[in-house]
Amino acid sequence: MNAIDVQSVVKRYGSFEALKGVSLQVREGEFFGLLGPNGAGKTTLISIIAGLSRPTSGRVSVMGHDVSAEFRAARSALGVVPQELVFDPFFTVRETLRLSAGYYGLRRDDAWIDEILANLDLVSKADVNMRALSGGMKRRVLVAQALVHRPPVIVLDEPTAGVDVELRQTLWQFVRRLNAAGHTIVLTTHYLEEAQELCGRIAMLKQGEVVALDRTSDLIRRFAGGRLLLRLA
Ligand code: ATP
Repeated sequence: MNAIDVQSVVKRYGSFEALKGVSLQVREGEFFGLLGPNGAGKTTLISIIAGLSRPTSGRVSVMGHDVSAEFRAARSALGVVPQELVFDPFFTVRETLRLSAGYYGLRRDDAWIDEILANLDLVSKADVNMRALSGGMKRRVLVAQALVHRPPVIVLDEPTAGVDVELRQTLWQFVRRLNAAGHTIVLTTHYLEEAQELCGRIAMLKQGEVVALDRTSDLIRRFAGGRLLLRLA
C-alpha cells in the first residue's frame, strides 16, 4: 500500500495556481524528500495531505484513506510537524502534549509522552511553560506533538529551517530512528544536502509542478555539477 497517494492535485488561490496537477506516491516505510525553492508549493501540498486545505481538484489518500471522505482515519494515520511555531504560551510542554493527545480523543498516556520527551531531550523542560522555551526547544515540541497519536506516517515541513547545527543533528538522528522503526517519513526542505543525507527518493517541486522524482542517488547523478541547485534557485 502507498502511505501517501497524491493524484492530479490542483490548488488555485483566485487565478493563481499554486499546484498545477501534482501526482506522487510515497511508499510505506519510505524516507521521502519534497525539495523546492520558496513558493514551490511544498507547504500547500502538505496542508492538503493533512486535510487542512482542500484541493481545487484531485485526490489524496493517506494509508488508503481518502483525506476528504475519511478525514478522521486519514488524519489519525498522519503526524504533521508544521513550519509555524504556534502554541499556547501558558501551557507547559507536558500539558501541550496532553492537549494534542486529547485532540485525537486518546486516553492519557503519560508513559508514551515521557518516552517522546526522552527521545527529543526534552525531559528537563517537561514542566516549563512554552513561552519560556527557546525557538529550538519549541521546534522539538512541535515534533513531539506530531507523535502523540503514534501515526505510521510523519510529515515534517522544513523542520530544520533556521535551527542550529546541534539541533539539526538531533532532529536528523531522531527521524532516522523513526524511519528505522517503520514509520514512513516525508520531509520538505530547501537543502539538497539534507535531502541527500536522509531521503531514499526525492520529488523536486517548482512553481507548483513536480519537475523531477527519482531515487536520490539517481537524481543527484542526473543533476550533478550544481545544475540541480541552479534549477532550484
Ligand atoms: P516555502 O519554502 O517558502 O515555505 P513553499 O514551497 O512551501 O514555500 P507554499 O507556501 O506552498 O510554498 O506557497 C506556494 C505559492 O502559493 C506561493 O506563491 C504562495 O504565495 C501561494 N499561496 C500560499 N497560500 C496562499 C493563500 N492562502 N492565498 C494566496 N496564495 C497563497
